[in-house]
Amino acid sequence: MHILVTNDDGVYAPGLLALANELRSLGKVSIVAPDHNWSASGHVKTLRRPLRAKEVELEDGTLAFACDGAPSDCVTISALGLLPERIDMVVSGINPNANLGHDVTYSGTVTAAMEAVIWNLPGVAVSMDAPEYHSGPLEYHTAAQVGKRVAQRVWENGLPNNTLLNVNVPYCTMDEIKGFRVTRQGLRVYHDKLIKREDPRGQPYYWIGGDAPSGVPEEGTDVGALSQCYVSITPLTLDLTLHSFKEEMAAWDF
Ligand code: MN
Repeated sequence: MHILVTNDDGVYAPGLLALANELRSLGKVSIVAPDHNWSASGHVKTLRRPLRAKEVELEDGTLAFACDGAPSDCVTISALGLLPERIDMVVSGINPNANLGHDVTYSGTVTAAMEAVIWNLPGVAVSMDAPEYHSGPLEYHTAAQVGKRVAQRVWENGLPNNTLLNVNVPYCTMDEIKGFRVTRQGLRVYHDKLIKREDPRGQPYYWIGGDAPSGVPEEGTDVGALSQCYVSITPLTLDLTLHSFKEEMAAWDF
């Protein structure tokens, strides 16, 4: 199996190296990741400027491509021939913070896996629920092991067309994890605040600030599973159609 590993935190992020090193026991691993942090960049296709990818060496000597495009661009150029060998699976991460509920449309980690689906490849996004304001280096070992386990199951069982997996791992040791739950998207609660400031020339500028998002820990959801120390695995599809509303809407007088 040939696995493409990417992320949205940049090619030098420790979570990416932890994941790539763990996945190597399943097959050949190639790394193509953004050259800087693209967190919360969403699903991107760069068409109005060229994309550059240069080979770099990671902390332990692992070779990788650093690309100046988005995570989804990294998947696209890899699938289109940057990597001469056919790709069998795309695994994205490890993002240090959870991607739950509506986060999936913002997340570069998840949208890289969405791009895999567009190229008919199985896509897995792996995020870890580290405390939002954690200082010092994070421990990625548990999430990397979980990522490997999920990738292995995907390889054995396959995924339906148009499907990716969004995996979120509690921030604890493997022993402390209670198990794996297949979940649906829960409800994220955003605490965004508009911060208005003034630049040196008197012009206003804005930051989207405020506290980190929380969530409603409902049973059966990704938020709920994490809150009880379970790994959350949500199968996602790119078909965003609201089928349950189609019939009612068809009766509207257009
Ligand atoms: Mn990120």
